[in-house]
Amino acid sequence: MSAGPEKIIRDDIRALSAYHVQPAQGMVKLDAMENPYRLPEPLRREIGEVVANAEINRYPDPTAPALMRRLREVMGIGPEYGVLLGNGSDEIIHIIVQCVARPGAVVLAPRPAFFMFSQYAQFAGLPYVGVLLNPDFTLDAGAFLRAIAERRPAVVFIDYPNNPSGTLFSDQGIARIIAAAPGLVVIDEAYNPFARKTFMMRLAEFPNLVVMRTLSKLGLAGIRLGYAVGRPEWIREFNKVRPPYNVNVLTLLVAERVLAHYDVLDAQARSINAERERLDGELRKLPGVTVFPSDANFILVRVPDARRVFEGMRRRGVLIKNLHTGVPLLDHCVRLTIGTPEENRRCLAAFAEALAEG
Ligand SMILES: *Cc1c(COP(=O)(O)O)cnc(C)c1O
Repeated sequence: MSAGPEKIIRDDIRALSAYHVQPAQGMVKLDAMENPYRLPEPLRREIGEVVANAEINRYPDPTAPALMRRLREVMGIGPEYGVLLGNGSDEIIHIIVQCVARPGAVVLAPRPAFFMFSQYAQFAGLPYVGVLLNPDFTLDAGAFLRAIAERRPAVVFIDYPNNPSGTLFSDQGIARIIAAAPGLVVIDEAYNPFARKTFMMRLAEFPNLVVMRTLSKLGLAGIRLGYAVGRPEWIREFNKVRPPYNVNVLTLLVAERVLAHYDVLDAQARSINAERERLDGELRKLPGVTVFPSDANFILVRVPDARRVFEGMRRRGVLIKNLHTGVPLLDHCVRLTIGTPEENRRCLAAFAEALAEG
């Protein structure tokens, strides 16, 4: 008789629930930091053409020369640095954590931070240290430096801006952390298109720095492409753990074509930023809410009753993220992704009505 999952699967895995994606059929979908805009028709036709001609009978070329050239040109990545491609930046986090996962290695990040940092640490069996942010979600650099001195982390992840708060931590604080860290520091710039600040320029200064980005928040969440930039010594090692064909042929081709028209995505990011500022101002006029300043494409808001606001908005056809799940500092917080002007009008109306209920 063979043993079932309760004997074979690790206890900590069996105790988890799978990543939950909320059903969004027919809803105004403002829960996942997606770009609400489609691509312009001529660019969509161009994509149609490259997809029609793709050699999908062949495995992708893992060195992806055309995309690499385009990415380096558009993102200003110097030839002295290596680039790692991932099936989303989620996969890059996974790869990096696996690379450092020897007994005793510690993963450290702010708390709250992007959920997958702790998930991948747990999958790899590594201790995870979350350093509490200040109540306004700014970085407590002193606490961070103390935690680094005590725990000597193999890798530090910092999301810049932070998800779920939208906070852009002070670059002096981060620089001190990178200088003090005994291991690798990964700056996760998933929201760089909105924040427009980067540590990419400081790779020369810090040998232990890797900058990670994704095309997801920029408008290409569906094709799954993330990348990490750093000294070739780091990237070479990460590449050994990367599954050889992790980024598929269609993603490589479509990303290259869309990045050739980066101005389109950049203009969309600018209008999302303008909408964020408008929504921020409107939300601040409502009674009983605390709006946290954001440099990303979403806004974190504390309300008197997160469950009521979340459910009230859902009944009105607007899907957001309820973050009142026991994570410290996020009591009664909800996160609103910025949509189109029309979606934001509906979001604001539903939010105000749900807030006034009960
Ligand atoms: C969304 C997000 C990611 C993951 O992006 P993918 O490339 O879609 O996997 C990584 N880091 C942060 C902080 C994010 O918010």
